[in-house]
Amino acid sequence: MEFCPNCGSRLEPKKIGSDNAFVLSCTKCGHTKQPIDRKAEARTGKVIQPKTTPFMTIISEADQQITPMQTIKMKCEKCDNNLVYVWQVQTRGGDEASTQFMRCTKCGHTFREYA
Ligand SMILES: [Zn+2]
Ligand SMILES: [Zn+2]
Repeated sequence: MEFCPNCGSRLEPKKIGSDNAFVLSCTKCGHTKQPIDRKAEARTGKVIQPKTTPFMTIISEADQQITPMQTIKMKCEKCDNNLVYVWQVQTRGGDEASTQFMRCTKCGHTFREYA
């Protein structure tokens, strides 16, 4: 049982994101506290420092999971460059066709093609 350092109310576990991550959240003033990960602590034998900005950290980690873009040989519509980055975006609904995007490595012109 933990209590809010601001107002003394009980802190309740509050789920964040899709992982099993959660913070302790004050039911009264909304103060949140990142709990120490006991499992990770036991596994590694060292104390995991609570993160001061858990929400920002989670967002930036998600942003970093962008896979490096592949390049293919394709003529750019705007310039004479013959190499473009290519990546696919799955539109909502798994049964729909994904959209293939291309971006010129030289001028940055972005265009797309339905797969
Ligand atoms: Zn509080
Ligand atoms: Zn171009």
